[in-house]
Order: sequence, then C-alpha cells, then structure tokens
Amino acid sequence: MGFLRELLDRATSRLLVKAVPMSMAAVEAGTLAGLRALVETCPCCNHELSGHSYSLAAMAAFDPSRPRSAYDLLKAISRRDWSEAATYNEWEGGMDDALVFVIGCPAGCAAVLAVEDPYMLGAKDRIIQSEVLDAAETRKLVSALPDKWRLIP
Ligand SMILES: [Zn+2]
Repeated sequence: MGFLRELLDRATSRLLVKAVPMSMAAVEAGTLAGLRALVETCPCCNHELSGHSYSLAAMAAFDPSRPRSAYDLLKAISRRDWSEAATYNEWEGGMDDALVFVIGCPAGCAAVLAVEDPYMLGAKDRIIQSEVLDAAETRKLVSALPDKWRLIP
C-alpha cells in the first residue's frame, strides 16, 4: 500500500474517530517522508536532499480504460512534454496510481521520478521511471509546472 494511500487512510480514520481533518502541512510532511523513503540522495548531485526543493508534479491511475491514464502520463514524461504532464492530477483510491515527483537541485538540474503507488495491501511504492535533466531542460520543466514547489528542510 502506497504512502499517499496510507496517509489518506489515516486521515479518514482520524476523521471517523475524532472528526479532526488532516492539515495540509501533515499531508505535505507525509508526502516528503514517502519521497525520502524512495531516494536518500539527490539523483543530480548525489548530496543529501536537505536544501533541495520538490514537487508532486502529477498523478494518474493505472486504468487503461480512461482517456488520461497513468500510461499516458508516463508517455508524456518520456516525451518531456512537461506542460501536458502537469495537467494530470487525478489520484484514484481504488487502484494503482502513478505519482510523479520532481526534485529541484540547487546545482541547477532536476530529477523526475515516476513512482508506482500500489493499491495492494503490503505492496511498497517503487520508482518505475527516473530521469535527470540538464539545466536547459530543467528550466523548461520549472516553467511548465504549476506553483507546487516545497523546500526540503
Ligand atoms: Zn542535488
């Protein structure tokens, strides 16, 4: 079960028990913890992630029957069509999803990580596609992404 799902499950049960909604800060902290579990160091500079920024840039479900599935999202990433990729923002609780993280490096490069967020209980998130971008491509990606960047403390 993927970290985003666990987080949402926890939020839901908390809602049921105490009717306390999960704060956006808690969701962001959980997402960052999930990212840190997948990569220990920056794929660009091989240094620790502290001082980098990250973005959960896109997400989509692995449902081939949908017109905009995770398969289409991964193709957009492979084409480096960042503005198209950034329009994918549907996460489906009942099936496997793809999450696309971007790590922005102070060295001027960026790493794009596509992660499979599995529905199955006990299954772990795993990186299914990973790419390090040069400075020119990083600038294109940053300008295509909506304002969703967070600093990694
Ligand atoms: Zn770096």
